[in-house]
Amino acid sequence: MYRLLLIFILVTSSFSYEIINGKTFLLEVEKGAKILKEGKELPLLKHPSKEDSFFVLLPIGYKDKIKDIELLHVKGKKSEKVLLHVKKGNYKKETLKVSAKKVNPPKKELDRIYTEYLESKKVYAIYTKKRYWSKPFKNPMMSKITSQYGNARIFNGSLKSFHSGTDFRAPTGTPINTINDGVVVVASDRYYSGNTVIIDHGEGVYSSYSHMSHIDVKVGQHVKQGETLGLSGATGRVTGPHLHFSIILQSKKIDPLDFISKINGLIKK
Ligand SMILES: [Zn+2]
Repeated sequence: MYRLLLIFILVTSSFSYEIINGKTFLLEVEKGAKILKEGKELPLLKHPSKEDSFFVLLPIGYKDKIKDIELLHVKGKKSEKVLLHVKKGNYKKETLKVSAKKVNPPKKELDRIYTEYLESKKVYAIYTKKRYWSKPFKNPMMSKITSQYGNARIFNGSLKSFHSGTDFRAPTGTPINTINDGVVVVASDRYYSGNTVIIDHGEGVYSSYSHMSHIDVKVGQHVKQGETLGLSGATGRVTGPHLHFSIILQSKKIDPLDFISKINGLIKK
């Protein structure tokens, strides 16, 4: 009771923001401040271009509950309430026709699918404290976007998933480049995503590139922004050759282009 009262007295003002499921909330914070969510401190990341400044990243998962999130911005003895109004995005529905075995996989493939799922989960749970990047993020290729993040996906007539990344048009053999510096943590052929490369950029940020016809990098390799990871293709669950590109932040597959524009917004041009 005493604690509760104390917090009540110290909260001097409040701010509110609207955020859509699948997007990232980014808040700039001055030195010495803390951001608390349900009593826990969010990691403060060093501002890429402002001295003595920090920021926090809070991804709102696509399937997260649509409810307000309350943060507390504490500086010295003062606190501000930061209220996030989470809203459901107006995402489209998309109908796709793929090979039947990629919708209802044969029993013999279930172990493989589960192993690959666990492998990703384990990779994304690793929080690398080091930040590998310093320059603004780039897109993985310059090409038309053929499917946006967040579309509800109906494969061969049944709703299977949401689109967890952004698709770029890419005829087979087009070079796919890393969006920023990092370390290769996955470079393998997967049931759904085909030939896939995943890069760790540090601080809980991963980027993933799927359906490649050829992989040019190896696990453990350090890559520089713009370096070619492989060539586009049509491996895995696809309707044709393209690049499926995604960003995973704190284990959540969030809108990659929204993330890039928010992070780049911090960096002086
Ligand atoms: Zn895709």
